[in-house]
Amino acid sequence: MALNSNNYYESNGYMSASLLKQFMKCEHTALAMYKGKYILPKNTAMLIGGFVDAWCEGTLDAFQDNNPEIFNKKIIELPDTAERIGNINPELVTKNGNIKKDKLSRAKKEYPEMFKTEYTLKSDFIGALDIINKISNNKMFMEFLTGEKQKIVTGQITGIPFKGKLDVYNGERIVDLKIMRTCERIMGKSLVEHWGFDIQLAIYQELIYQETSKRLPCYLAIATKEDPADLAIVEVNQTNLNIAMETVRNLLPRIKKIINGEVKPRRCNHCEHCRETKELKIIDSDLLGMSDEDIFYVTGEEN
Ligand SMILES: [Zn+2]
Repeated sequence: MALNSNNYYESNGYMSASLLKQFMKCEHTALAMYKGKYILPKNTAMLIGGFVDAWCEGTLDAFQDNNPEIFNKKIIELPDTAERIGNINPELVTKNGNIKKDKLSRAKKEYPEMFKTEYTLKSDFIGALDIINKISNNKMFMEFLTGEKQKIVTGQITGIPFKGKLDVYNGERIVDLKIMRTCERIMGKSLVEHWGFDIQLAIYQELIYQETSKRLPCYLAIATKEDPADLAIVEVNQTNLNIAMETVRNLLPRIKKIINGEVKPRRCNHCEHCRETKELKIIDSDLLGMSDEDIFYVTGEEN
């Protein structure tokens, strides 16, 4: 099946950078996602990233239509709402011609067509607009966002079909736009390493190489949610990309066996999908809170 922007996320049977990172976190959930049986719930951070990505792609209107949860919804009276309701149902309205306070929710329920629904962006997304404003006013950052947006690439890594969606591709470099909390280091690591962005870019670089025979430099264009926002253009150097690709190639044989049903996927034992699908049994207190992988290393047995 040829991939396009409409079927990209629904198409099963492909590995991707995000799925690979999910396999590193929780094989049980990753396998369900690979098979199209489970979708990670959207969280605010993902929605903010999607919001700015959509702006970058020029599809912010469609994004807002498809994600109503980014709005606060308020039902408000029109200038003639009370009068019109009073004409139909006088007991809901005071002598002064206002809707009675204790009858307001009933009025909204019974006569919804006489009210107006007002949608206002939630504060997190007003913050996202501030970020967009800061990005828009930075010439260098905007240069890195110039090119083909959300380019879909496919290929194979160690014989496994992969797909990728590149935020910005201009034929000379690969750029991924990231909206982060901060650029600070996390537990002694750069956020690139901590969040596996090197792995993501190494996969993109490889897929583009397979398509074009060109190994292109890879960048992250980072904007933070701080006030004022911090901006960074980060090059992930080829040594780090090679190391990340080595990690990918080392992980894939086990993932392939899990996908083929030869190896049972291990659970992290704490994510949403693990909790949802848990079968209750007695567990030793020493093992409580451990992932199946930790349990394997401690006991030598698969959970
Ligand atoms: Zn899990």
